[in-house]
Amino acid sequence: MIWYGGDYNPEQWPRDVWDEDVRLMQRGGITLATVGVFSWARLEPREGEYDFGWLDELLDLLHANGVRVDLATATASPPPWLALRHPETLPVTVDGVRLGVGSRQQYCPSSPVYRAKAGELVRRLVERYAGHPALELWHVNNEYGCHVSHCYCEVSAAAFREWLRVKYGTVEELNRAWGTAFWSQRYDAFEEVEPPRAAPTFKNPTQLLDFDRFSSDELLACYLAEVGVIRAGSGVPITTNFMGFFKAVDYWAWGAARRHRVG
Ligand SMILES: [Zn+2]
Repeated sequence: MIWYGGDYNPEQWPRDVWDEDVRLMQRGGITLATVGVFSWARLEPREGEYDFGWLDELLDLLHANGVRVDLATATASPPPWLALRHPETLPVTVDGVRLGVGSRQQYCPSSPVYRAKAGELVRRLVERYAGHPALELWHVNNEYGCHVSHCYCEVSAAAFREWLRVKYGTVEELNRAWGTAFWSQRYDAFEEVEPPRAAPTFKNPTQLLDFDRFSSDELLACYLAEVGVIRAGSGVPITTNFMGFFKAVDYWAWGAARRHRVG
């Protein structure tokens, strides 16, 4: 069986358009629709207040018309209230600029607040839709890291130091691996290490490489956290979308983690 379809975002259109959409889907031979990818602000319009009525109606409509559903976890684009109430969830660029709302993907992958809020939304989606007859797949987040693959905020800096502590054990070993005898870069403690933020000239290449690895691991941790929440309540297959040879995320490590931990 080969499914045929794509993303469908009817929450961006008036309700009376949906029936026409479904009619055209049938004419086009569409058998699968990915829904809810950017619906967090609709599903949780205020912190802790959920509105699933429109998604209930949508899934029922698709099911009644023979279209299977790849249901997204909706965590790829947090609603503005998250930034207002928890500004530390907003990511910071290499130049120290904290990114704002009004676009998408404005979250720090290391943020425990973001991860907790995302996890709670996923838990409620699974609770509500795990048994829905239209459900064919779960679609976790969306294009991890496509805009914000690295975050240089203080939360991420602390997580990076912990990642380095686990990797190297001692700051002496980090100094050896990073070649910090060069240009007076020697560290006396992990607390002195920062993400490779904007700097006067060439940055330490091993610091850059480790920050790339760390950043991919943080996104993978976000993915696996959502997978864990889904698996606790649903046996339906889980997927996410990769972007070819997207350099910022180590898809080989993701593939291995998926084989070993998700099955
Ligand atoms: Zn961050």
